Amino acid sequence: MKILVTGGAGFIGSHLVDRLMDAGHEVLCLDNFYTGDKRNLSRWLNNPYFELIRHDITEPIRLEVDQIYHLACPASPVHYQFNPVKTVKTSVLGTLNMLGLAKRIKARILLASTSEIYGDPQVHPQSEDYRGNVNPIGLRSCYDESKRIAETLCFDYHRQNHVDIRVVRIFNTYGPRMLENDGRVVSNFIYQALQNRALTVYGDGSQTRSFCYVSDLVEGLIRMMNNDYVGPVNLGNPGEYTILQLAQTIRDKVNPDVEIEFKPLPSDDPRQRQPDITRAKRYLDWEPQVGLVEGLKLTIDDFRDRLSEGVLS
Ligand code: NAD
Ligand code: UDP
Ligand code: UDP
Repeated sequence: MKILVTGGAGFIGSHLVDRLMDAGHEVLCLDNFYTGDKRNLSRWLNNPYFELIRHDITEPIRLEVDQIYHLACPASPVHYQFNPVKTVKTSVLGTLNMLGLAKRIKARILLASTSEIYGDPQVHPQSEDYRGNVNPIGLRSCYDESKRIAETLCFDYHRQNHVDIRVVRIFNTYGPRMLENDGRVVSNFIYQALQNRALTVYGDGSQTRSFCYVSDLVEGLIRMMNNDYVGPVNLGNPGEYTILQLAQTIRDKVNPDVEIEFKPLPSDDPRQRQPDITRAKRYLDWEPQVGLVEGLKLTIDDFRDRLSEGVLS
């Protein structure tokens, strides 16, 4: 099959490209390299079945493919808040363009939505029926509200134009290739510990997240794309940890001497988050296989390798 991956030079996108190329597909990748890196795709750059196009998805584009994995969008608060208007354009206009493309060429399109659409949830764990508790004018709204609109666009193109959509809501995902300056919690703590710097816990660290290893997530994306169920489907690991527990676990694994320092909690930071993955189990026969300890080890090894190769600053 000929498959388009938007955001394919990014963290999750590049792992997805690896899986699709290994399975023998022809892969086209669109990326503007805002948070992505060509180096994530270096093993494919000379492969005739792979094509990397520098393109901003807020601009229209005409291509011919069978499936579209639509991942292009900055995902870390630091990056999506750097230029919030651009984030809205990417999520809304970018998704509109990809849906227009999918409609014209009759391709199936999968949207990478997010657990952020549940906002600061008042229902725990979060199932797909929960409609969320989002602040429409807060610092995170450029991301969570625009992802909500992206979901709306998908379902309206589906109802109005019969576009073949799939929608997944991805919960916090981590693994090799995260940028050292990504700003997300797992990469921050690992990089800080490796550099003998204090781990920066925001607030008192009692807020919770559930961390999914990237290979599990990619497996879920591929199963969803090749399944009849439209969604939305939560994809995440139900193992829930406080941020302080995560800091202690990473400290113990990397550098027991490093300190933990407490910094102010960003506004609208969700208090708790855990996916209810009943739907993913039922429709996709999917559940995560890699636990936090094993996944952290693989991620720490990758950061160590990149540090020793001088790839990280
Ligand atoms: P990432 O920042 O590593 O990747 C995003 C990619 O999109 C980058 O390569 C970036 O350069 C590209 N991009 C951004 N704006 C673009 C534009 N206007 N045009 C073309 N390319 C553009 O992030 P990620 O963690 O790989 O996330 C991928 C997708 O998964 C995102 O849609 C994100 O919202 C979603 N998601 C991720 C997580 C997570 O924990 N990693 C959680 C929920 C949802
Ligand atoms: N679009 C695109 N590539 C295509 C087809 C459409 O980028 O192959 C864009 C198009 O420019 C438009 C958006 O997708 O901005 C929505 O397209 P649609 O046909 O649904 O709406 P219209 O063009 O009628 O506004
Ligand atoms: N966080 C933290 N220290 C950091 C980075 C993040 O304590 O250096 C916290 C952040 O406030 C949030 C949690 O870790 O409560 C997860 O943050 P991340 O940005 O990784 O994901 P998101 O908030 O988007 O779920």
